[in-house]
Amino acid sequence: MSCHEARCDRCCYRRRLYHILRYYRLEGDDCRITIREAFAWCRDCRQVAHAERLENLVALDTELEQDALLGEEVYSAMASCKDRREERDRHLSNLRRRIDWRRSRVSPPKCLECGSTSILLSPENDQDDEECEEPPEIEHPDCGGRLRVIPVGFGPTRGFVSYTPEGDRIAT
Ligand SMILES: [Zn+2]
Ligand SMILES: [Zn+2]
Repeated sequence: MSCHEARCDRCCYRRRLYHILRYYRLEGDDCRITIREAFAWCRDCRQVAHAERLENLVALDTELEQDALLGEEVYSAMASCKDRREERDRHLSNLRRRIDWRRSRVSPPKCLECGSTSILLSPENDQDDEECEEPPEIEHPDCGGRLRVIPVGFGPTRGFVSYTPEGDRIAT
């Protein structure tokens, strides 16, 4: 996975950010969903940190509807493709699980490093927008500059961390 570096355009602040696999652990140990992450300025860490990006429920519902519909068309044309059908069923059930989790989630997004909700999230880039090649910018409250987070090569994934559905780190 790629590793990133945050840099400020006004002061000498820099921080390397390494990729860590992060999941919510839901009811039962074997039920996990991947955490969607964004970069943020955390007022408690006083760092650029990994934070949660809580998805919009309407967008998730639309995605489920579209994928379910698309699946029907594709799979009725290839009724014999058992593997593809299983893959699709898995995808849809993961999506339903994510929607259930999102619906019951209460807390605002948290810093994944210290658990604070006092964070400035980077703006959400519309991923379909080809123009959005610019790295996300976050305000640097310490100096009034802009923080940019850019990929700086590849590194190994550093560890695996589980969180509660409310975004609190589970001590292991
Ligand atoms: Zn700065
Ligand atoms: Zn923090």
